[in-house]
Amino acid sequence: MKRDKDIWVFGDYRNYFRNRVTLQILARATELAARTGGAVCAMVLGDNVDEFAAEYLAHGASRVYVVDDPRLKQYSIETYAFVVSRFAEELQPETLLIGATKFGKEIAPRIAKKLHTGLTADCIDLEIDDRGRLIQTAPSFGGNLIARIITPDHRPQMATIRPGTFQELPHDYAAQGEIVSLALPPDLPEDKIRCITSEHRPSRKQKSEDADIVIAGGRGMGSKGKFKKLFELATLMNAEVGATRPVVYANWIGHDALVGQAGKSIKPKVLLSFGVSGAIQHTAAITGADFIVAVNKNPNATMMKMADVAIVADANQTCLGIIRALKEKIRD
Ligand SMILES: Cc1cc2nc3c(=O)[nH]c(=O)nc-3n(C[C@H](O)[C@H](O)[C@H](O)COP(=O)(O)OP(=O)(O)OC[C@H]3O[C@@H](n4cnc5c(N)ncnc54)[C@H](O)[C@@H]3O)c2cc1C
Repeated sequence: MKRDKDIWVFGDYRNYFRNRVTLQILARATELAARTGGAVCAMVLGDNVDEFAAEYLAHGASRVYVVDDPRLKQYSIETYAFVVSRFAEELQPETLLIGATKFGKEIAPRIAKKLHTGLTADCIDLEIDDRGRLIQTAPSFGGNLIARIITPDHRPQMATIRPGTFQELPHDYAAQGEIVSLALPPDLPEDKIRCITSEHRPSRKQKSEDADIVIAGGRGMGSKGKFKKLFELATLMNAEVGATRPVVYANWIGHDALVGQAGKSIKPKVLLSFGVSGAIQHTAAITGADFIVAVNKNPNATMMKMADVAIVADANQTCLGIIRALKEKIRD
């Protein structure tokens, strides 16, 4: 049976300028393809999606499969899963990668089921072994283990990848590639779900996995009330707030802010860490930070050893002090 070596990346272009996961996966796919010899292909479905096809070429894809049809304007899980699996059956990519966004987590298992293949969810790394197989690294058993998974017998090898795991390539204005238009399959099943109306509610905040400055708070902030001061500091610094697991479990902030194995990976230019001990489940997700400032009353905390600047002090008082100083600077 013919097996192409191509790596496909599903084009999740919703909220394009903030949702960079497709571009991040494309970047990693180019490195993987350099080892396996296949092409890096993006697959885009929708209505009037040419601009996204061009973006994917500029960010590492050498071929983009485009299914452009007004019937795809309204996203439908059934239709999209049907179309992707149909073309995957026909064109037989070796690998199919999808961002582990809410959308990706919904569609990927359905595609895997239709293709009778395996799926590793929420990967935090992808590599190629010496037999050319995809090693899919993902936290498992609630984050207690890091599993390295291969798909020995079935194709495509499928994985969803956590946003923020890889760094997107710079936009290459000179990039050239192939755009292949595909027609919707004639036997498109009738949708069981009918959308009556939809409303787009853009969120005001940027995502912490894309933010240049992240302020991460841990249990050492002391209380929910004191933790709130980090939001004020974040507003002054145009930063995003992240948190450790105890903080999220104590409901000082929503689960969306969790940084770590069970949450998001971040790669800010500057990470300010307040009252965080530096457990491996947390630090595994901050290795991409360029510069770390940690505040902790314990100079021996792991977080302090990882930091470029370690301030031995009370986390809450230090936060208040920086807020005061920034406000004074703004007034001047
Ligand atoms: C399966 C599993 C998955 C997990 N996943 C995650 C995850 O995704 N993300 C995550 O973060 N954790 C995760 N954890 C939990 C992780 O092991 C740690 O328990 C957690 O990261 C610790 O959070 P913390 O640093 O806020 O709290 P603590 O470990 O309690 O540390 C508090 C720190 O604050 C300092 N401190 C105390 N008071 C002050 C003060 N007044 N001023 C300054 N410093 C002070 C202390 O010296 C200490 O270093 C997971 C654990 C398991 C078992």
